[in-house]
Amino acid sequence: MIAILSIGDELILGEIVDTNSATLSALLYDNGMMVKEHATVGDDETAIIEALKRLSKDYKTIVVTGGLGPTTDDITAEAAAKAAGQNVALNEEALKHLDDYAKRAQRILHPINRRQAMLPEKAGIIPNPQGTACGFIVTLNGSSMFFLPGVPSEMLKMFKATVLPYIMKQRQETDIYQTVTMTTFGAPESELGAMLQQVILPENITLAYCVNFPSIFVKLRGKGADPNILSSEMEKATQNVKDILGELVVTEGDSTIDTIVAELFRKTGATLALAESCTGGLISKRITDIPGSSEYFLQGAVTYSNGSKERLLGIPGHILESYGAVSHETAEKMAIGIRESAGSDIGVSVTGIAGPDGGAEEKPVGTVFIALADKKGCTVERCKFRGNRDAIRNMTSYKALDIIRRHLLSY
Ligand code: ATP
Ligand code: MG
Repeated sequence: MIAILSIGDELILGEIVDTNSATLSALLYDNGMMVKEHATVGDDETAIIEALKRLSKDYKTIVVTGGLGPTTDDITAEAAAKAAGQNVALNEEALKHLDDYAKRAQRILHPINRRQAMLPEKAGIIPNPQGTACGFIVTLNGSSMFFLPGVPSEMLKMFKATVLPYIMKQRQETDIYQTVTMTTFGAPESELGAMLQQVILPENITLAYCVNFPSIFVKLRGKGADPNILSSEMEKATQNVKDILGELVVTEGDSTIDTIVAELFRKTGATLALAESCTGGLISKRITDIPGSSEYFLQGAVTYSNGSKERLLGIPGHILESYGAVSHETAEKMAIGIRESAGSDIGVSVTGIAGPDGGAEEKPVGTVFIALADKKGCTVERCKFRGNRDAIRNMTSYKALDIIRRHLLSY
């Protein structure tokens, strides 16, 4: 059983977010081990000692990060010694590490850095290839406590090089874990939940939902003894979920809607042009963030004013006047206009009210029209998004990519 303890006033005060616990948990999980508890305390000796004593009773392995630096607010080593009933003493190996580090960096070691070699007298050293602070190991109540610096890149290197192999060797539990993450878009959590009530899963695989605005992750978490058997069970369960959710599943694993859309363009050979109003080029940015997008993305126009919609997209002035810039008719003409101007297979347009001003009763803030034109015609979708300006623009770009994705799937 593993716990992670993060130490630092800045964590308790909310000045920084504790990413170390998340990084370590995810890495351990990838290696088949589940962390049972995350604890956080400030740079407070009593609090650190109490946390270490308490955790050592429940957990065989404790990974501690933070507070190993040279300054007086870094008190982890002293607290660790007190918790384990040891004195602090100058650790020759740690001192040598500090000297070597200074030599390599061509720096003179500041006397206060010597503090970093004052460790619990029975501590074993965890080398730090990158920074000044060594990590160390202390045992208490039969539990191994690994102390690492707070700096995320340092602690991760040291954890991978020394702590993880050590934990893997000590490990008695034989269960392994696997996760499959599917990114969905287009249905709220409650609807996904209702649809997946009927999914058939074996007992060792559970279903979880995680909102990652504007998409929702559907996760399958499996536990088993044999990696090959578990993999095939996970594959079957994933297929069962996909059969039920259909096109709501955008992708699986690390890929995103942006990379999936890119893949579909490459596969189909179709070309794209965009006319954007309320997103101000956001969709073009997302498309061109993907290397190689010049193969299928021909042109993007930010047509913000009525004048530019007339000039660049050939929309008749009377359409804009009688229906408005944010309208079914304008979106349609924008998509057709950009497609013709670029000579692309697909033309996509967005026009909407991102707020906070500009809303009206029949077209409130968040009203967005998205149109897609191809050689067969043009379809327009009227959407109503919620949230602030950022959220509405973000959602609009996501939705436009989803419309493109679904269109390309039907190619
Ligand atoms: P240093 O030698 O740099 O003082 P340290 O071991 O004393 O290292 P801290 O002083 O606790 O570590 O933290 C150093 C920096 O690392 C912090 O300023 C913070 O930005 C980052 N850090 C510390 N703990 C965490 C954490 N749990 N998650 C993310 N970042 C962290
Ligand atoms: Mg520090």
